[in-house]
Amino acid sequence: MHLKKIAIIRCLKTSASCAGAGCLRAFYDKDKAFAQYGEEELRLMAMWTCNGCGDSMLENQEGIRKKIERMKALEIDALHLSHCTSKKDEQGEKHLCPTIKAIADELAASGIKIVQGTH
Ligand code: SF4
Repeated sequence: MHLKKIAIIRCLKTSASCAGAGCLRAFYDKDKAFAQYGEEELRLMAMWTCNGCGDSMLENQEGIRKKIERMKALEIDALHLSHCTSKKDEQGEKHLCPTIKAIADELAASGIKIVQGTH
């Protein structure tokens, strides 16, 4: 059986107050967005964060390239976009963060499946 290699990306701002437990629980329980894999064997290859925006930026902004290239080198099958990467607008509608969208678009172009959500 083919082993599915999974990575999860999350929001740096949210990570200030989130231990990632909800995403990991869903992954290990094959719940919510991970239920689609059924009996397939999964391996969590990476759980990474964006490098931030606005007042919450990491010093090494170029480092994001390294992380994106790492996903390609790892040949992950799917990148799950944690719920925290979508933010509510003033009307309460959720929109995927444009930074995450750009990362997701690049990885999709290299053949990686992009899945919205984790738990
Ligand atoms: S760029 Fe997007 S995902 Fe990253 S910290 Fe800012 S809002 Fe969060």
